[in-house]
Amino acid sequence: MKHEMKLNMKLEERFCTLCGPQAQKNVLYSANFSDADFNQQIFSARRTPDRRHFQLVKCTACEMIYSDPAGDPSKLAELYHHGLVSYDTQEPEIYNSYAPVLDQALKKLSHRGTFVEIGGGTGFMLRYGVEHGFREQIEIEPSQDAEKKFRPVSPSSKFIRGIFDLGIIPPNSASLICFFQVLDHITDPRSFLKIVHEALEPGGIAVCITHNTRALSAKILREKSPIFDIEHTYLFNLKNISALFQSVGFSTAKSFSIPNKYSVKHWLNLAPFSPNTKARVTKILRKTRADKLHFKLYAGNLAVIAQKERS
Ligand SMILES: [Zn+2]
Repeated sequence: MKHEMKLNMKLEERFCTLCGPQAQKNVLYSANFSDADFNQQIFSARRTPDRRHFQLVKCTACEMIYSDPAGDPSKLAELYHHGLVSYDTQEPEIYNSYAPVLDQALKKLSHRGTFVEIGGGTGFMLRYGVEHGFREQIEIEPSQDAEKKFRPVSPSSKFIRGIFDLGIIPPNSASLICFFQVLDHITDPRSFLKIVHEALEPGGIAVCITHNTRALSAKILREKSPIFDIEHTYLFNLKNISALFQSVGFSTAKSFSIPNKYSVKHWLNLAPFSPNTKARVTKILRKTRADKLHFKLYAGNLAVIAQKERS
């Protein structure tokens, strides 16, 4: 069911979250959306990309790409509360893409207390925390629909419904905090990372996966790249994202490109074809059973593993 939510979205000026209001910016792509775009469907997780976006600018100092002007954060938050979780069938693929990054993070982690995921929908990644010996697992997620679909993977798993903010979990309490395809949706990523840093115990690790503006897909598709989207307020590259983590106090922040392994069907969903073309190709793939094939591609994601200083 599609709910239309008409909101009077007021646009406000943004600045580079790393370099601050004094940094210069250049217009990269002009806005291509209308009021009707602010409905519940657009703000659902991993829906078919429609490539509508606010005006996108690039910071001349660090090359961060961001929406400017962009929607009022409180209105955006409201939309996320009503967002529908629509990616159930891709969960195993997403899990398999992200788990190797967590494996790398664990090599540096000396204590496995609380495993926290932010914005992970129904919380299916918490299984990783259970299987790798964390004492407790917490999903923090604003969507009501996700809360309804949450199934605890162990007696020590819980769901906290809300936007990740100061006080939602105690300071110095988490061993690992991960957030996958979340940072680009945050209206103030630097403040968000400060809170992540504060919530981690000494020696604790933050694990982030997000889009890479210097990835091959962004270079080839340019404005048609699915990363340029009304929901993505800030977009990063390997260099500026490491700098952003270090700017809030992380002692190390290693960033690297990561491959995604998804089914042919999923890649097709992301491709810049018309719905008709997609339907035709899907039919052919289904007949030949090629839709079930999986392949790996460095399609445009980066990961960051950042550690808080041990005291
Ligand atoms: Zn900048």
